[in-house]
Amino acid sequence: MTSRLPAVGTSIFTRMTALANSVNALNLAQGFPGFEPDPVLAERLAYHASHGKNQYSPAAGVPELRHQLALKYGYHADTEITVTCGASEALFSAIASVVSPGDEVIIIEPAYDLYLPAVQLQGGIPVFVRMKYPDFTIDWQEVQDRITARTRLILLNSPHNPTGKVLTAADISALEQIVLQHPGLFVVSDEVYEHILFDGHQHLSLSQSPVLRERTFICNSFAKTYHITGWKTGYCLAPENLTRELRKIHQYITFCTFTPAQYALADYLESTNSHQVLSEFYSRKRDLFLSTLDTAVFRPLPSEGTFFQNLSYAHLCQRPDTEVSVVLTEKAGVASIPTSVFYSDATDHHILRFCFAKDDETLLAAAQRLNQASRFLG
Ligand code: PMP
Ligand code: GLN
Repeated sequence: MTSRLPAVGTSIFTRMTALANSVNALNLAQGFPGFEPDPVLAERLAYHASHGKNQYSPAAGVPELRHQLALKYGYHADTEITVTCGASEALFSAIASVVSPGDEVIIIEPAYDLYLPAVQLQGGIPVFVRMKYPDFTIDWQEVQDRITARTRLILLNSPHNPTGKVLTAADISALEQIVLQHPGLFVVSDEVYEHILFDGHQHLSLSQSPVLRERTFICNSFAKTYHITGWKTGYCLAPENLTRELRKIHQYITFCTFTPAQYALADYLESTNSHQVLSEFYSRKRDLFLSTLDTAVFRPLPSEGTFFQNLSYAHLCQRPDTEVSVVLTEKAGVASIPTSVFYSDATDHHILRFCFAKDDETLLAAAQRLNQASRFLG
């Protein structure tokens, strides 16, 4: 059979987690919290599962949850908000809503692994624009230069996985200029790390720009904000005309999202502002990890947001990052993600991505193991 995705194998997250488990390494590879959600949220889930909220919900999402999201983001609950199975489904449906065969899609690299296959499955043609190494800034002139009459979509992600970069006001205004000049252009904005920011960086949602809001699908998730990656609950915010198209696709991919979780999240959003402590919570974890790390061995790159810390070993050796991540997992007992996998041409800057959404003990142990790991890099 001819594969529709010939270049795709098993995701790096699945592979590194399997390897970490098989050798009993500390898993700082796949991005997921090593701790439990608020018991109040878990209690609400159990409550709704035992109080009659177990059947299909409305395809757009339960009204109570859309109401809470409307209050939080200022989108219309009935016409502009759709609850999805994680940000993954929101991204997939948004891309499918606007990309037809032969349409060009600008993907900023390094890029989260879902974007490229989602574009390719629609027959879209990826056009890659790289963030500038080593600062990982976006050259908007280059973006502009790569736009043609066939460009249909730009995919953005801030705070950015895997670099931890955050879009600035200058980035937003450059994007506004581009969108104003190209009436047929849409934007998908992946904002799943919106509440995890460090050192005074602010999250500038594309939804806050009147120009961009009209053309943008904001894809988001409860996963990172509430430590529930396994609940696969997310949402898409988009103006009515875009939401109408997105819902056509969403209703045939999943129809609706796990009903008891939606009710639980609606209750939770109404009763707490727990996301407000997230930046401080994770910034302390990042700092604990970094303060224990011997930076002569692994050199940290700036992390402005997300729960990822990139470490460079370029000064020690030039072995491929895919190889080094495996060696470190097997020999040093710490699993990470090689960042070359986020480039279409496997560009290797000799940087590994470490997830610090772990308990303090794990972070300390991981840093100590990494401090002893230079002997495996020769
Ligand atoms: N976008 C980015 C940048 C991510 O890191 C992730 C993974 N957590 C997702 C989307 C997918 O989110 P979800 O698990 O809600 O589908
Ligand atoms: N978003 C997570 C990460 O970047 C992984 C999600 C997944 O395993 N698909 O590590």
